[in-house]
Amino acid sequence: MSKKVYIETEDCIGCENCVELCPEVFGFDAQENVAFVIMEEGGSEECIDEAIEDCPVQCILWKDE
Ligand code: SF4
Repeated sequence: MSKKVYIETEDCIGCENCVELCPEVFGFDAQENVAFVIMEEGGSEECIDEAIEDCPVQCILWKDE
């Protein structure tokens, strides 16, 4: 079972916190004003956990596959 990170983009407010914290994992869609996941797995788990904690609307989540 592997863990994958995803963003519930309908809740994202485009603050870019996650992009600043983990630019290798999260990208930013300036047109839609939402963050997106570049790398679902393989990024630093610690960094992703920090981004999850820092997201003001808690729309970054781990899912188990
Ligand atoms: S931290 Fe949360 S609200 Fe901010 S850009 Fe990332 S996913 Fe969106």
